Amino acid sequence: MPDLYAVFGNPIAHSKSPAIHAAFAALTAQDLHYEARLAPVDGFATAISEFVAAGGKGANVTVPFKEDAFRLSTRLSERAARAGAVNTLQFAGGEIFGDNTDGAGLVRDITHNLGCSLAGKHILLLGAGGAARGVIAPLLAGGPASLFIANRSADKALALAAAFADLAAVGTGSFGETVGKSFDLVINATSASLAGASLPLPAGIFAPGCLAYDMMYGKGETPFLAQARAQGAARLADGLGMLAEQAAEAFFVWRGVRPETASVLAELRAGLAA
Ligand code: NDP
Repeated sequence: MPDLYAVFGNPIAHSKSPAIHAAFAALTAQDLHYEARLAPVDGFATAISEFVAAGGKGANVTVPFKEDAFRLSTRLSERAARAGAVNTLQFAGGEIFGDNTDGAGLVRDITHNLGCSLAGKHILLLGAGGAARGVIAPLLAGGPASLFIANRSADKALALAAAFADLAAVGTGSFGETVGKSFDLVINATSASLAGASLPLPAGIFAPGCLAYDMMYGKGETPFLAQARAQGAARLADGLGMLAEQAAEAFFVWRGVRPETASVLAELRAGLAA
């Protein structure tokens, strides 16, 4: 019997994770089965215990269960404890190990796939929700010159920076408080693009050579990337690479081998364009 893995979410039918992990398993010759499982919004813990009883070895966790998974974990990685959320679970010896690979996935996409080092860069992070929280420590670990968090509700950005104050002094404010500043890397971690909304970004925030990165992805250019292009950002990237890289990092946690992502990413890209 192949080892059993699954992604839990609600909704989950849209998830690309089963296809990504099937491709990784083929690339690395790992004998595993990975499926999508719909859990009731108030039934995550029960769904996980049934999965473990059925022999499940590990799971990915997506919206809206990342905080439930955090609470359910009996042991956390340091990056999951920092993120306050878990997207990767491993079950062994009665223990539920919780990890968070989102930040590592983002950083690997930016540094490895896109060839943009974080060292010495001025970074602007837009948004102060769960996705933003998960990437702050990995971004700071890259040694940027500065990190500024801008959010619609500026108080949430301030609270987020306070939670990481032991790592670095992080600037915060509303979008308007970025006036007069410019950045080498601007990352959109808001969900504004989901609603098709544009952000009130002042002119001049994209420094020459700036990479604009949207954690969101979809068919065609996202609203944030269209806005960044219009405001002069030199390079644009969506979050499809982050999706592939957070999956590769989870695969590494479970199996101890790191799949290459280039061919999987190319297939995902072709699937989006179709
Ligand atoms: P949350 O609901 O936790 O946070 C949403 C954030 O977006 C808040 O900062 C909120 O501001 C802001 N926001 C929402 N609407 C607007 C708007 N119209 N104008 C300005 N700001 C707005 O969401 P998550 O952090 O979980 O997710 C954010 C995004 O990241 C999603 O698009 C998600 O798909 C993406 N993501 C991508 C991943 C990948 O692998 N590529 C992985 C994880 C997430 P306020 O605080 O003021 O409400």
